[in-house]
Amino acid sequence: MAKITTALSAPDAARTKPAPAAARKPAKRGTRTRLSRPEIELLFTRLHAKNPEPKGELEYVNPFTLLVAVVLSAQATDAGVNKATRRLFEIADTPEKMLALGVEAVTEHIKTIGLFRGKAKNVVELSRLLVEEHGSEVPPDREALEKLPGVGRKTANVVLNIAFGHPTIAVDTHIFRVSNRTGLAPGKDVDAVEQVLERVTPDRFRLHAHHWLILHGRYVCKARKPDCPVCPIADVCRFKEKVQPAGRYSRVPELEAAAMADTLSRLETP
Ligand code: SF4
Repeated sequence: MAKITTALSAPDAARTKPAPAAARKPAKRGTRTRLSRPEIELLFTRLHAKNPEPKGELEYVNPFTLLVAVVLSAQATDAGVNKATRRLFEIADTPEKMLALGVEAVTEHIKTIGLFRGKAKNVVELSRLLVEEHGSEVPPDREALEKLPGVGRKTANVVLNIAFGHPTIAVDTHIFRVSNRTGLAPGKDVDAVEQVLERVTPDRFRLHAHHWLILHGRYVCKARKPDCPVCPIADVCRFKEKVQPAGRYSRVPELEAAAMADTLSRLETP
């Protein structure tokens, strides 16, 4: 069974009529990265080196079950979602089968997940819409995805990224925290952070940026006690309160900076 990382914590599941993309608030004026371009390159180079092929913990077997799993993951742990969906996906891995199962049976399968009643209704309703309006396929575009019940911008971004290889970045609680602490993409809300990330993330890191930042936030730059002493990006991080033993975290070492300059010059050469 395939795995992904989502860690969505915002209540996408409770949203039945998400605001269209065009209605999003623009980023506040002056919102921009606090890191230099070489520092951003270095940050992603380090996260890439640590985990070249980032894998997560949410299980799915096809784009439809991916969509359902991400919808169910709002305000729930991946482990909790997997526990419920393993059996559910064995018997309902297509919109038709999920629709035939019905709200009552889906509710029974997912009753260990938070907000399960609303999520069960959304899963069956989105299955009905996929059957009736999309030929039982998950649509590969944001606007259509966001019209499905329980699917907000973050869920759409995750599905577009994982199922269709779009370089989207779904800003969840981990990415929001890491982006603000490091100075990579400061912002007062997830839309502002997402817009800065879209501007500053180098193209070659775009596809996996979502996973790297989530995993970094989940396992290293944790909310209550960040593991700064073992953090691979501590020397570029701007977080004032980072745990900083004496002598650690000198600015980017000279050799590494030179290597980065070399990399950048090669990237810029047509
Ligand atoms: S140095 Fe600390 S605060 Fe900065 S990214 Fe690393 S873990 Fe987070």
